[in-house]
Amino acid sequence: MRHPAPADPFSLTGRLDKIKSAGLFRTRRTISSAQGAVIHAGGRRYDNFSSNDYLGLANDARLVGAVQDAVATYGVGSGASQLICGRSSAHEQLEEALAAHTGRSRAVVFSSGYLANLAVITTFATRREDVVVMDRENHASLVDGALLARASLRRYGHHDIAGLERLCTGKRALVATDGVFSMDGSIAALPDIVTVCTGHQAMLAVDDAHGFGVLGETGGGALQHFSLDQSRVPILMATFGKACGAMGAFVAGPDAVVEAVIQSGRSYIYTTAMPPSLAVAARRSLAIITRESWRRERLRDLVGRFCRGAKQLDLPVLASGTPIQGFLAGSAEAAVRGSDYARSRGIWLNAIRPPTVPKNTERLRITLTAGHSDEQVDRLLDALAQLKKTL
Ligand SMILES: *Cc1c(COP(=O)(O)O)cnc(C)c1O
Repeated sequence: MRHPAPADPFSLTGRLDKIKSAGLFRTRRTISSAQGAVIHAGGRRYDNFSSNDYLGLANDARLVGAVQDAVATYGVGSGASQLICGRSSAHEQLEEALAAHTGRSRAVVFSSGYLANLAVITTFATRREDVVVMDRENHASLVDGALLARASLRRYGHHDIAGLERLCTGKRALVATDGVFSMDGSIAALPDIVTVCTGHQAMLAVDDAHGFGVLGETGGGALQHFSLDQSRVPILMATFGKACGAMGAFVAGPDAVVEAVIQSGRSYIYTTAMPPSLAVAARRSLAIITRESWRRERLRDLVGRFCRGAKQLDLPVLASGTPIQGFLAGSAEAAVRGSDYARSRGIWLNAIRPPTVPKNTERLRITLTAGHSDEQVDRLLDALAQLKKTL
């Protein structure tokens, strides 16, 4: 059936053509299997080095079972936002477990990390004269929070602590940083950032989406890694969609911080609560993450194996001690070509291009997970060595 084309007053056709000609068009690919170190798509098997399922829990039988049981108890939908009638005992128990796990007074659960960051930034930066100070490579949801807050957004160079200090002047300042940066795997210099914030009486929020579960002795993340309690870092945000293998997010900190987010976070108040079954899954995941430190050790070993191999092969890889590794392609076109090549070798790798990363730093983003085998990592290294020759 042919559908008539509507008028195009916003020049969508032209805009899309421009995205395509810049090599920035994004293609959605559909997978037909569960998430894991191996996935299936279009009838083919792929070694998956693109997910954020760092501990290999997204398809863990215990989480699957927990969700099945929870659905039998709570049903599927949460029915409403948390402040209406969408908050179940599953959410409450998860919040209590999170406060205990993170060593913070209280926690509040969100439907997603994007929404949690919008709530954090808009709750604190409420006046035009407020400043929100961020690392240039912070996640888009933190940037969007600042834009929504209409406070003044100031950004410093990646890891530039002196730059941060220069921007923390006068007025009320909220400093927000990724704990582990999502596109290069580097860890923020949190002790130094804390020192600057303390000196300037700035409020500090850490988005630990990629550190939570992965770093720290019991998976407490970057803050546990650096032993920073809530007196140093009052606002901790982390998500359940990555190492926890589920979906959703939380904010944890002192009572007043959490209560303020509940009272004024519009992306908390005006959105449907996460399904109770996922709250149950996240709590189960938290218990697994705390107990099964072998998953973190296995991941560390694989990161070591990858880094040693990359060094031997002299691959253009951004140095990182976390499961996120960047293979620099040099251009958007080369990154897409690299991704296509990897797929032809049965390896799933995504091209990361502007605006997600700065121009000329286009890369293949590689993520290792505890579910990968040594052989998978070796196959990846071999494919990257071949790819390097063609770039
Ligand atoms: C994934 C991510 C988010 C968003 O979390 P969702 O639950 O996927 O919405 C926020 N911050 C960072 C650093 C992330 O990597």
